[in-house]
Order: sequence, then structure tokens, then C-alpha cells
Amino acid sequence: MELSQRDITYCKNVGAKRADILRKELSVNTALELLVKCPPYKYIDRSRFYKIAELDDEDTYVQIVGEVTEWHTIGIGKAQRLSATFFDGTHQCELVWFQGVKYVKLQRNVPYLLFGKPSRFNHIYNFVHPELTPMSKVTPEMTQGLEPYYNTTETMKRHGLNSKAIRSIIAELLPDLKQGIPDTIGADILQRYRLMSLTDALINVHFPKDTLAMQNARARLKFEELFYIQLQILRVMKRREQNPGYTFPLVGSRFHALYKSLPFDLTGAQKRVIHEIHDDLKSGHQMNRLLQGDVGSGKTLVALLCCLLAVDNGYQACIMAPTEILANQHYETLKAFLAPLGDAVHVALLTGSTTAKNRVPIHNGLLNGTIHILIGTHALLEDNVQWQNLGFVVIDEQHRFGVAQRAKLWSKTRRVAGDGNTMPDCPPHILVMTATPIPRTLAMTVYGDLQVSIIDELPPGRKPVQTIHYSIQRRAQVYAFLRKQIQDGRQVYVVYPLIKENEKMDLLDLQNGFNELCEAFPDCKISMVHGQMKAADKDLQMQRFVSGETQILVATTVIEVGVNVPNATVMMIQNAERFGLSQLHQLRGRVGRGGDQSYCLLLTDQELSKDTRKRMEIMVATNDGFRIAEADLALRGPGDLQGTLQSGTPFELHIANLATDGQIVTLARQAAKEILDKDPLLEDQMNRIYKHQLDILRVKQSFNWSEIS
Ligand code: ADP
Ligand code: MG
Repeated sequence: MELSQRDITYCKNVGAKRADILRKELSVNTALELLVKCPPYKYIDRSRFYKIAELDDEDTYVQIVGEVTEWHTIGIGKAQRLSATFFDGTHQCELVWFQGVKYVKLQRNVPYLLFGKPSRFNHIYNFVHPELTPMSKVTPEMTQGLEPYYNTTETMKRHGLNSKAIRSIIAELLPDLKQGIPDTIGADILQRYRLMSLTDALINVHFPKDTLAMQNARARLKFEELFYIQLQILRVMKRREQNPGYTFPLVGSRFHALYKSLPFDLTGAQKRVIHEIHDDLKSGHQMNRLLQGDVGSGKTLVALLCCLLAVDNGYQACIMAPTEILANQHYETLKAFLAPLGDAVHVALLTGSTTAKNRVPIHNGLLNGTIHILIGTHALLEDNVQWQNLGFVVIDEQHRFGVAQRAKLWSKTRRVAGDGNTMPDCPPHILVMTATPIPRTLAMTVYGDLQVSIIDELPPGRKPVQTIHYSIQRRAQVYAFLRKQIQDGRQVYVVYPLIKENEKMDLLDLQNGFNELCEAFPDCKISMVHGQMKAADKDLQMQRFVSGETQILVATTVIEVGVNVPNATVMMIQNAERFGLSQLHQLRGRVGRGGDQSYCLLLTDQELSKDTRKRMEIMVATNDGFRIAEADLALRGPGDLQGTLQSGTPFELHIANLATDGQIVTLARQAAKEILDKDPLLEDQMNRIYKHQLDILRVKQSFNWSEIS
């Protein structure tokens, strides 16, 4: 039977019980799925033999030929342990068994193959529970090529499904695999992108002929995984481009009035981006666009001008922010910008803490069209928020959401917009704004369904923030610096980290910090905000800082996004080692917003891990958000980032890694695009294979792409 049809239960070395576990733990139902979904996570070169003298401290598996010269057991019963001396002709090492001691049968004057992971202890290498095979029993296969190692879960191990067991199940499938299986990528793409056939790739990923074959096999399987993701993303994108959309051809009086009232010129990048957006708004199709721009690049103003394009054309707009503080801030900022326009634009604010009484006029105003722009948090997605004609939606600081979460917003906003008179099914235009630059190849997947606009220019006259790294021993010096800034009339942020698991401790840290600052700065007024405070208290404290009444704001990371106080010139970050790079960069973006030289002071312990030191060095070296994003990617490493991204994407990756396989992402997207450009519906005979494969994926994925089209 074909491997794709063969139930995993009926594979050799499996059976009903193990099949059950494979299904539950790895979602593996068929032989082919086992081959595809379980690529080895590492390989050990069994063709290489070591000498004890060659070992270094590294934690990798090695094999050595030698003899056991002496052994003895210590202790009795369960506590028994067996210790042996192994000699390779020139040097000695130690072998140790803690378990199953009575099954270990050793012989003198017999050559053995030792295989295991050495560790160094008291100047001698030792191997715990090594494999020890008499040379007479060593088959050529055992010491040939790269041996695959498989990840298994605790449950799997408990039922004997360890790496070795998986290896033996897969080995049994090899003869059938060598008969060849139907490919899932067309010959044309295979050839142009120099990819192995699926059959060769699966053979060489599990039992590689050599390192090169293994690498090529993995590249082919990664390509395939990413290629099908891109096909899905690009299909949604293409379908959406066909969605009808409201047209906003008019650049009207409100837009012009605001534009003229601005005390500064828009930057070239802001102008370009507004043109890009306006082109979409004129096209007759729904816009789905991502606006990327570093902190302080002026995204809010761009969003507002675009909202006015909608309003001038007779539609409503909304701006959704991730936190109440940010929603409030947007509301204040917009009102200030719009003040010269008088009554021409009516803006309202709706958040979780808007009272039931205050909601009534907002709900009415949205329905009868007297409210033009609504600012809010998730509260504005609630079912009872109904609009007359919502035409434009801005989602700010989108980096907290991924494709999947966004899907929910889409369907919601569409339902909300459903009562528009002219075009009942027309979804509003969507502008997603993020200040967290992410490397381009990652954006292709996480934001792969959106058009992208980038503001790559800061308003003129900004002095780059100077970043300095101090160890806490120099606190007095840092305080003296703060005092000088405050004497000059400037304001200061002091930020403490927050770790969710231990909020009590963190609050204590914050409170202690606050007290310490009160003592150190007896002449200053100090605000404090943290996540546990009531929204009203938080707002009051923020407001005191924004208005200049207090000179120092002590806070946890609640201020991370969006706050705008141009007079603040110092961002001092306590325990900076506890923050990630992008978080540090976001925090730094809170200063340097006025004309004065600003500073970011990173305070850490004196003793730092290598990674932390690197993070501080990068922060000191550059203000460029994209460079920081790249460095973050490199430092945080694939696993960590993969987890974060995975939570934002509906895709399950078995072999590709979004953090490290950027080049393959680019190629996969290119290949997918070439196919869809020629044949958007995948109707050609030669593209059947893709359509078929997508149908299979659709059934398997828990996530429904059509929801966001
Ligand atoms: P972002 O949201 O991208 O972090 P903001 O929209 O908060 O940035 O803008 C930061 C500050 O720069 C605000 O005070 C804003 O009024 C101001 N600003 C925006 N555009 C310009 C410009 N073209 N020239 C000067 N200042 C600007
Ligand atoms: Mg902003």
C-alpha cells in the first residue's frame, strides 16, 4: 500500500498502543506523515572515530574503540553503581552506570566500540550510560554515515518510543520509500529552484548518504513547507484584492484644513505613504496595508490624515489601540491636532472603562453618523457597537497580534460594517500600524497577507538619543546626571521590569525604587504608574507627568507603547538585563521627541551573561530599529522567536524555521507568486498538484483561511 495510505498502526514496530500515542503526540496518522512530520533534529557522524586525547568539553556524541581494563561496583540494591575504566591504547576514561547495573556484562581483552556523550570531571572524561558493543557485533551499517536523532515527548518515552525506536520504525519504511512516492511540487519548480525530489529528500533527511545530501534534503523539505504557506497567504491576498471596497476619491476640506494647520512639513516618507494609501482608497478594492515605521516617525499623524480622507468622503473611521493609556493618548493627540478645525470633525473615545451612561451618546452618535472618528481599545469591536458607515479602520501597534488574531478582527469589523446602505458587503479599509520593525523575511509570513508601506525617515531636527550603559555601582553618578537634567527643566522616565510570574515582588521593587527616588530627589514631584492600578489613577498620574507637574515618572512597562512627552529627555531603565532588545528599543523611543538632546540610560548588574552584554552593546551602538530587529533575531535564536511567531501564525512548521530560514522564505514566496500570477485560481493542469495539496492542508489545518479573505 502507498505510504500515504498506510495507517501508522500497521507499520512495523508500531502496533495499536504506539499508534495511538503517535496520533495524540505528533498528529501522525500515516506512514508518510511520520516521514514528513518527524525530521531528525540532529545527526551524529558515525563514520568518525575519536581518540580520548582528542575529546574536548563539548557535549556531543563520540565513538571510540578500546578495551575495558578494570571495573567495580559500589553500593547495593537500587543505589548500586558500576564504574569501569576504558583504555583506547594511549589514554583512559571512565564509564558509569547507575541503572540496570546487573545487565551490564563486561569482558577483559575484548575490543569494544564505545558510543556516548563525554563530560569532564576531575580531569578525566567520563561517559554515563554509554553504549558498549563488542567489535565482533558491530555491523558496517552501525558506523556508516550520519545517524539521525529524533525529538520525542515524555509520554512517548514512557511507552518506549524514544529516538532509537522512531529510527527503527522509519528504517522499516525505507524499502517502500525507495520505490518512489508522488511528488508534491511540480517538475518545473523542482528544476528551476534546484530541489531534490520528495522521495530523495525523505530518504536523505532520515538516512543521509552524506552531509551534503542531508543539507539538500532538508532545504527541499523546508522549501516545500514554506512554499505551501506562501501559496495560502498569497491566495488570500489575491482574493482580497478582488474584494470590493469603498472609494474615497476626494481629498476634501477637512484633510486640507488639517494639512495647512500643521506647524511643520510632513516628511517625504509620510507624504509617500499617504499617497500609497490614497491610491488604495481610490482603487475600488479593499485595502489591507501594513504601515511600518520606527517609534517617533509620525505614524499617528499619517493615520489621522487618512481617517480624514474617509470622513471627507462621507465615511466613518476608527483607531484601535492595544491599551487604554494608548487609546487615551491618541484621543488627546487627535483632539489637539484637530482643534483648529473646530466642529468639522467629531472624535469620541470608547474603552473598557467608559461608563454605561457615557456609552449611550457614543452608540447613538456612531449610528446616526455624528461621530466621525472613534478611538478605542478592543471595546470598539463589541457587538453592540454599530456604525452608520465605517469605512476605515486603523489598528495600532499590531505587533501584539498575528495573522490568526487579525482574522477575528476582520470578520468582526465586517459584521459591524454590514449595515452600510450602499454596499452591504463592503469591508472597511484596514491599516495596520506597527513600530516594531521585523526582518523582511519574517514579515513575509507574519504579515505576508498585507501590502507594506514603510516610513523610513524621522522628522527633521531630532537629535539621535544617546544611549549609555551603567552598572548599578555607578548609581550616584547616574542620579547626579538626572538631577542636572531636571534642573534644566527636563523630565525623566524611570522604568522597572515586570515579570508576570511574580507580580508581588515586582511591585515591591517598584515601590522600593519609588521610595529611593523620593529620597534622592527630595525637591522633585514624582508620578508612579503600574499595571495593577485602577485606570483612573493611572490616567491621573500620567496626566500629571504629561502636563509637567511631576518631573519623574516611575513606571513598569505600561508606558512601553505610544506615550508622547516631548519634554522628557531621559529614559532610565532599571535591570535592563531583564528586557528584550525590541522592548528596550521601544522604551528608548519615548524620549528624543522634542528638540533637546535625549538620553537612554541602561542600568544593569555588573556581572552579565554574554547575551546580555551583547544586547547592551547593540543598544549603545545603534538607534536603527531594523538593525535592532535583525540583531534580536540572531540573539534570541530560532527557538524562542519561533515560539513567539508561532503563536501569531496558524501554521505548524515541522522542519523550516522562520528565524533562520529567511532565504528559503524568499525563494518560496517568489515561486508561489510566479505560479499565482499566471494562474490565480490554480486551474491549469500543471498546477493541479498544488490545488490538491492545498485542499489536503485545508482539511488538516485547524485554522480557516477563508475567514480572513
Ligand atoms: P509614532 O506613532 O510613529 O511613534 P508619533 O506619531 O507619536 O510617532 O510622532 C512623534 C512626534 O512627532 C509627535 O509629537 C508628532 O506630532 C511629531 N511629528 C509627526 N510628524 C512630524 C513631522 N513631519 N515633523 C515634525 N514633527 C512631526
Ligand atoms: Mg505611535
